[in-house]
Amino acid sequence: MLDVAALFASDYATSRQRFREAASALGLALEAYSIGKRGPDGNDLTIEVAMTPGIDAEHTLVISSGLHGVEGFLGAAVQLGLLRAWYANDASLPRVRCVLLHALNPFGFAWRRRVNEMNVDLNRNLLQDGESFRGSPSGYSALDGLLNPRQAPSRWEPVTLKFLLAIARHGMPALKQSIASGQYDYPQGLFYGGDSPSRTNEILSMHFDRWLAGSRRVVHIDLHTGLGAWATCKLLIDYPLSKSHRQRLSRWFGPDTFECTHTPVVAYRTRGSFGQWCAARNRSRDYLYAAAEFGTCNPLRVLAGLRAENQAHHWGLADSASSERAKQQLVALFCPRAESWRIQVLEQGMRLVHNAIDALLEPSQLTN
Ligand SMILES: [Zn+2]
Repeated sequence: MLDVAALFASDYATSRQRFREAASALGLALEAYSIGKRGPDGNDLTIEVAMTPGIDAEHTLVISSGLHGVEGFLGAAVQLGLLRAWYANDASLPRVRCVLLHALNPFGFAWRRRVNEMNVDLNRNLLQDGESFRGSPSGYSALDGLLNPRQAPSRWEPVTLKFLLAIARHGMPALKQSIASGQYDYPQGLFYGGDSPSRTNEILSMHFDRWLAGSRRVVHIDLHTGLGAWATCKLLIDYPLSKSHRQRLSRWFGPDTFECTHTPVVAYRTRGSFGQWCAARNRSRDYLYAAAEFGTCNPLRVLAGLRAENQAHHWGLADSASSERAKQQLVALFCPRAESWRIQVLEQGMRLVHNAIDALLEPSQLTN
């Protein structure tokens, strides 16, 4: 039985401490990378990396959490659940190399934001060589006023009604694309990809190859929340998926568990995602990345929560009651308090990782 209360931390600092203790108890090698910012407690904010030293380096499991800051509450709970389960099982680690990346956006996790210290969505900041930090979907400018009001949030604003009117006027596809694609022109707006590589981007670029050194086959689960139906899990892949990867995903996790969002013809292609970055960087390996999305609330509620928190951050008073309310609401939208949600998503997340380990241990089929 999972001890849910002990696995979900109440804040980033507690999560990091538990992650470090559980990894140390298993004898994992730990590394920490400062992003040069401080948390609400005044302490340095770091990305933590735990690795199994020297075990079957050919096959590697990567589990990452918190690329979207506040979404790290669940991702870190899954990581801690795995570490504690391995420890409880006579401290026996899986027979594959494990690389656990805790809080890829420590600022967002600590300060309860989805974005980093520069208002950047890190899943749009990992651009490839030759791509520029400029451009937006054509519909974004029309939605800027709706998505990014230049004022503190108000409890009495009929936000849902405004969203519904915008959907009636612009169509759901335009709204969806503005949100899913990211933008590089509105630094204080939602879904901003930044104007230069973030500190997380630099840290990943500097160390990723070393963490995977010698590895030929990799399965990477990047944990997210906030998209999809309540307490369900879907694997999202936004880079071209080979036929063999498609077949393997279906066999490993089930035919309806994943969705490839990369299509050859789109009006504005999403750029700078972690999945695309991993795929481009690891062409010499059999590398399969999937963003595991655990659903929470209605998407318009999630969008309203993101909007209010962004308003509070840029236009509200930092320590006001309305800012605190916006932060608490954001956490509740990306990590609901309901115990039934927490149990279900933790169980699914851990099962997903166990399936990924079994998949890595099956006889190699290099038929890309
Ligand atoms: Zn996310």
